[in-house]
Amino acid sequence: MATDLAEVMRKIVGEKGVFTDAKSIAVFSRDAFYFSPVLKAQLENKRADLIVAPRSVVELQKVVSYAAREGIPVTVRGAGTGNYGQSVPFYGGIVISTHRLNRILDFDEASGVIRVEPGVRMGHVERFARERGWELRCYPSTWATATIGGFVGGGFGGVGSIRNGVLWDGFLKSITVLEVTEEAKTHTVEGHDVFGFIHAYGTTGIMVELEVSLVPAVPWEEAVICFPDYADALRFSHQLALDESEAKRLISLSEWPIPSFFRPLVAAGGIIEGQAAVLLELAEGRTATVAEKAAPYGGKLTYTAPASTYHKGKFCLSDFSWNHTTLWAMKADPGWTYLQSRFTPEPEKALEQISALRDFHGDKVAFHHEYIRQDGELELAGLDLIHYQEKEPIYAAIARREELGVQVADPHTFLLDADPRWSGEVVLAARARYNPHNLLNPGKISSQPLTEKARSW
Ligand code: FAD
Repeated sequence: MATDLAEVMRKIVGEKGVFTDAKSIAVFSRDAFYFSPVLKAQLENKRADLIVAPRSVVELQKVVSYAAREGIPVTVRGAGTGNYGQSVPFYGGIVISTHRLNRILDFDEASGVIRVEPGVRMGHVERFARERGWELRCYPSTWATATIGGFVGGGFGGVGSIRNGVLWDGFLKSITVLEVTEEAKTHTVEGHDVFGFIHAYGTTGIMVELEVSLVPAVPWEEAVICFPDYADALRFSHQLALDESEAKRLISLSEWPIPSFFRPLVAAGGIIEGQAAVLLELAEGRTATVAEKAAPYGGKLTYTAPASTYHKGKFCLSDFSWNHTTLWAMKADPGWTYLQSRFTPEPEKALEQISALRDFHGDKVAFHHEYIRQDGELELAGLDLIHYQEKEPIYAAIARREELGVQVADPHTFLLDADPRWSGEVVLAARARYNPHNLLNPGKISSQPLTEKARSW
């Protein structure tokens, strides 16, 4: 069946757009779920029947139309850096890779709205925008490889979220969506309806064009300030987050020993043995003043990079932020995994939660936080490192956080509707409208079982 299917697909997208060899199928059937030992055990052996990479919306429409007629499950994949198996095909079928749908289509210099295909890399858009005086509102620490479609479909926020919020906070002006039916029609959605596609794990329609709203670019410089005590690092970071006289794009805090895992930064002399590190992106010319503000908290400036080298050096500080922090920890010691949590932003309350969790975990925890804004409110996002590989202690750790009022978006499940960040009804409405046969990435929403049509595949 897969051989016949490959022939049909080759006729649509050409020889170079179809991958049937075992290696390609294995590579394109996975994402970064290996951050979770629980997901790793569950998802490692899931495979597509073949990989198809269309070059145009017309080709994509023909692929989708055929799949819908035949009841073949379809899973869309950007760069495959999602952490929860979002682009893993649970029921085989076709994985559509968007790597050849990677063009910038249009840019309006006056409004800063850029129209792109879904497979364009975030880094490409950021560079293109900065050359024209604009920048992305936010981007994940995987910005060099991650695609816009994948960030919208599977991401949350990142660098820039302290300034402009997360994906739900005006990142998108509109999305053009392809319905997964035999007719394979396109629709343009705007306003609140775009929430049906944000962090929807590609279950609600295939995004074929996105209008992304940029913000005026700021020349950013980078700085690391180290603190003997994580509590003081948190108190200072909170003050800085609230300080309207300082523009910032990143406030990322890691307690010791996490900074010791950032090898390039250690080699550059940016880390002090035994101390917490706060990684900052600040407006040009502000580092000295911010360092003065950190001094009463015991902060010491250990690393700076000027605005002229922003995104141009051997590394940037965001390479050690967000889930890259976890990646460096796992490289140093594969026994680490992580949780995604939301602490009370006010530092004294957060420190009580942290202290109770230290009592609970002993030396099996190391704290990493990012200050962000969401829906205008200051939030303290935690990507706590926990040194467990078994399901039981991981879920005990989640339960303890919930008792303490620390909300957890569980990164050890592939179920979208288990994630408190999903948009619920608007996602289900979009799924019913644009993916009526549930052929698109089936298995990711617990209440949406495989339809008869897909089951026959
Ligand atoms: P993929 O993993 O390929 O896809 C993600 C989801 O989007 C899938 O469900 C897929 O089906 C869907 N999708 C892709 N394209 C389309 C389309 N055209 N139409 C419909 N659905 C589509 N996330 C953050 O939010 N912030 C971070 O800072 C961050 N840091 C990370 C650091 C590391 C080291 C790693 C491994 C992951 C990190 N992530 C982060 C998670 C992930 O990198 C981001 O969400 C990223 O933007 C995903 O992009 P991608 O192109 O790899 O998407």
